This record gives sequence, structure tokens and C-alpha cells, in this order.
Amino acid sequence: MLYLVPTPIGNLGDISDRMRRALEEADFIAAEDTRVTMKLLNHLGISKPLVSYYEHNREKSGQKILERLLQGETCALVSDAGTPAISDPGEDLVRLCADAGVPVTAIPGPCALITALCISGLPTGRFTFEGFLSVNQKSRRAHLKDLERETRTMIFYEAPHKLLATLQDFSQVFGPDRRISLCRELTKLHEEALRTTMAGALEHYKETAPRGEYVLVVEGAQPVEEEALTLDQALELVQEQIAQGKSKKDAVRSVSELTGFPKNTLYDAAIKA
Ligand code: SAM
Repeated sequence: MLYLVPTPIGNLGDISDRMRRALEEADFIAAEDTRVTMKLLNHLGISKPLVSYYEHNREKSGQKILERLLQGETCALVSDAGTPAISDPGEDLVRLCADAGVPVTAIPGPCALITALCISGLPTGRFTFEGFLSVNQKSRRAHLKDLERETRTMIFYEAPHKLLATLQDFSQVFGPDRRISLCRELTKLHEEALRTTMAGALEHYKETAPRGEYVLVVEGAQPVEEEALTLDQALELVQEQIAQGKSKKDAVRSVSELTGFPKNTLYDAAIKA
């Protein structure tokens, strides 16, 4: 069994009984940075063999971990802070185990993106997690361009020294009036949520140096009312779908769902066309 064990994102009080037990009961622990994990284990009074599993050794180390799991051992995977596999190593190991039929289970716990979203004051019903923006200008621009019309709340991770540049890019893409919540030092003594606009955030950080770890929660774009299609346009869609290999019945059903035209109307029109 592979256990994904979350660890505190700043407050040791967030260690749960299940996290502690999973670490105690595992045969070995795979850690992103063994020195960081050693500190946590010392705090918990747990002594356990550690192997390193991080971005640059994940292929080789992942195979070794998998072999041990296949021989019946239990592994607890931890990252430096928060939930493993969320902007952290782990995703690949989970896939490797799943493909090899090794059971994987995750213990719920601290995760910066959910903590930030909950206190952001922005809509939580539909959201998208975007992780870190690339430092490569081309892929960074492409990523943001993709999000130009995104209507869901967007969540980003950011380091303090890149915050100002990111806010400038956000302001260009989303506009100066778009709302943003800058959540920093979550669960720590100086936790803060600055709920403002892009222009407000830029103004604030011109005067105050960014400090600590940030989650940026950005309001989605206002949905644009789609123009209603005419019956002729809907009929064209039906013909297109038939040309792509759908049966008339299936094409009519899917275009009816898409446009709101009743199936009978579309079907009759398709027969006459
Ligand atoms: N796996 C982690 C999780 O579950 O949240 C995320 C790891 S990612 C490498 C680290 C980023 O998470 C930081 O750069 C920051 O954006 C965010 N983060 C982690 N701890 C945080 C905290 N206490 N307050 C605000 N952001 C935090």
C-alpha cells in the first residue's frame, strides 16, 4: 500500500492522528527532502527509514519504491509541506502504483490551495487550480492567454520574489478591476488575506515588499451571453455532425441539447433539408 500523507503547511497543530499513525506504521517513508521530513519525525518522536523521492530522481527512485511495494512493504509518501502530488512530487508515483495494481490511499489534510480558496471571499462553487506559472515567458503567456475568458475562480501558487511580475501580468490579462485575494502565510502567525483588485494589489506591493508564501485566488471573468443560434445554424450543426459520422438521431439529440431547439423541430428540418 502507498499512503499519501499530508504534512502541515505552517502549523504543527494540523498533524492528525491518521497522519501520525500512517507514518508510524509504514515500513519506510519516501520524502521530498529527507532533512525537512527528519525534523517532522523528530517532532513526532518517530524513527523510520527514509528514502528520497523528488523532482529529479523520481523515475529511478519511483521504480525502487514500486519494487518494495510489490514485495509487500508499505510506504508513506510525504512532501515538504502540504498534500503530496499537489504541485509536489507524487503524481508519477501514484500512476506507477496504480498501473502496477498497488493500492494507493490518501489521507486528507493541509493543502494551501483549498485553505486559500475557503477564505478568499470569491466564489467557491467552480474553481480551477493553475499551480505555478512558468518562468519561461512563452509558456507563461500561453498559459495566461488560455485563462483570458475563464469564468471559474482561478488559484495560483506564487513565490514572493515573483509576485510583483505576476500581478503585472495578471493586470494586463484580466484587467485592473478584476478581484483577487492574496493569501499568505496560511495557518501561520502572520496569516493574511488581502482581498482587493489587481490595481489595488499592485498599489499595495509597490509600497510593501512581498513576504512569505502566497496563494493567489483570482475572480473568474463575467460569463458572456452566447448569442442564440437560428434554426438554420442549428441545422448546419446537425449536418456537420452527420458528416463526421454521427447518426441523424444522435446528431439531432446533441444539437438539441446544445441549442435548446426541440428534437422534433430539428429532426423535421433535417429530413426536409
Ligand atoms: N503540496 C502543497 C500543498 O498541498 O499546498 C504545495 C506545495 S508547492 C511546492 C508550495 C507552494 O504552496 C508555495 O510556493 C505557496 O504558493 C503555497 N503554500 C504552501 N504553504 C503555504 C502557506 N502556508 N501559505 C500560503 N501559501 C502556501
